[in-house]
Amino acid sequence: MADGVIQLQCECKHDAWGKKGNESLAGRLWSQMPGASPLDDSETYSEMWMGTYPSVPSRLASSGELLSDHVKRNPSLLGETYCERYRREVPFLPKILSFAKALPLQLHPDKKLAEKLHAQDPIKFGDTNHKPEIAVALTRFELFVGFKPIGELADILRLGPLQTILPQHEVVNEGILREVCRTLLQISSNTVSDVVKNLKAIPLSELGEKNQYIPNLLERLSEQYSDSDNGLLVASLLMNFMTLEPGQAVCVPADSIHAWLSGDILECMARSDNVLNTGFCPRASRDNIELFTSALTFKPHDQEAALLPARPSLMGINEKTVKYTPPFSEFNVLATNLAAKESETHTDLQAPSILVVTGGSGTMKVLGDGKTLNLSEGSVFFAGPEAKLQFATGNGIMIYRAYATL
Ligand SMILES: [Zn+2]
Repeated sequence: MADGVIQLQCECKHDAWGKKGNESLAGRLWSQMPGASPLDDSETYSEMWMGTYPSVPSRLASSGELLSDHVKRNPSLLGETYCERYRREVPFLPKILSFAKALPLQLHPDKKLAEKLHAQDPIKFGDTNHKPEIAVALTRFELFVGFKPIGELADILRLGPLQTILPQHEVVNEGILREVCRTLLQISSNTVSDVVKNLKAIPLSELGEKNQYIPNLLERLSEQYSDSDNGLLVASLLMNFMTLEPGQAVCVPADSIHAWLSGDILECMARSDNVLNTGFCPRASRDNIELFTSALTFKPHDQEAALLPARPSLMGINEKTVKYTPPFSEFNVLATNLAAKESETHTDLQAPSILVVTGGSGTMKVLGDGKTLNLSEGSVFFAGPEAKLQFATGNGIMIYRAYATL
C-alpha cells in the first residue's frame, strides 16, 4: 500500500465564463470520470478540481470516500514529513480550466493578508494560506498577467483619452502605477464607457508599435462584459497581454494581478481558495478596490519575468519528462508527453502526487506491486511517495503530475 496509487473521481464547476459542452477540455476530461454524466452542450464546464479542497472535493473512484478523509486515515499516503508540514492535507490543488471569455480580474492574498482577512471574514476568506499559482497552456492560451514595464506604461499613460481622468506625471514609478490602477478601478461606469470609446477612436499611428492590439482587445472585452467594466482599462492598458502555446506556462506569485482570457489550461496552486476580484464581474461582486490596490505587488513586471520555463527532469528516466518548478514551496509539476509506442518511467518522487491524463491513452504499471492500470483522457490518480510508475502508449499520451515539495 506504500505506493498508494488510487484512481480519483473529481468534480467540475459551471462558472458562466466556462466553455460549453464538448468544447470544454475540463468538461471532456470530467465526463470520462467513473460516475460522470454525459456532457450537456448548453452547459458550461469551467473548472475540474483534483485534490482535497472541501468545496470541490475529489473522491476515491472505488468507494466514493473523500480523498481528504482517506489520507487522514492513512497518513503514510502523504509521508511523514509532508503529513506534519501540511497537517494531513494534500498541500496543492491542480485544476483543469476551460474558458471562452475573461475570468474575473483578480489577485490572491499573501499569507499575512490571508490571515488578516480570514480573521475579519472567515466565510468569504476561508483560508489563512497564500495561493500562488502556475498556469500551463493545454491549448492556445491568452492571458493578462502582471504589469507592463514602466517605460511602456509611461507612453500609454500619455494617451489623450486618459488625460482627463489621470493626474499627469513626469515620471512613472510603482507608487504612481498603484494610484493609476486605483483610479481606473474607481471611475464610474459612464466614464469607463467614454474612455473606452475614445481609446478605440485613436489612430493606430498614435498608439505606438507595441500597443496596436488595444482597440481590438477593448472591442472584444466590451462584447464580453459591456464597455463600462473597469477591468477593460486595467487589463488592456496596464497589464502584460500574452499568448502561450501548449506546454508554455506562467507563474503568478501571491498578490500578483492576473486575468485569463481564452483557452484550456492546467492550473496548480497552493491549497487555498482566497481571491479578490475587481473586474470582469458584476459591480456588486467586486471586492474592495482600496484593499485590492494596496495588496498589489508589481511582480512580474514584463512578459519574460512571467514565464515559467519547463526544464528537462531526471525524474523521468527515459528523458521524456519536463518539470515546472515555481519559486515557492508547495509543489512542482511534471509533464510527460509520449509519442506513439514510447514509454517513460517516473522514479519514486518521495512526495505525494496527483496525475491527470489530458490527452491520448496508454497504460501505467505500478512497479513493485506489478499492477497495470489503463489510462485515458480524464484518468486522475493520487500516488503515494514511494510509487514508481511506468507509462506506455500505443498512440501517444499527455500526462501532468503535480507533487508536493517542502
Ligand atoms: Zn488566480
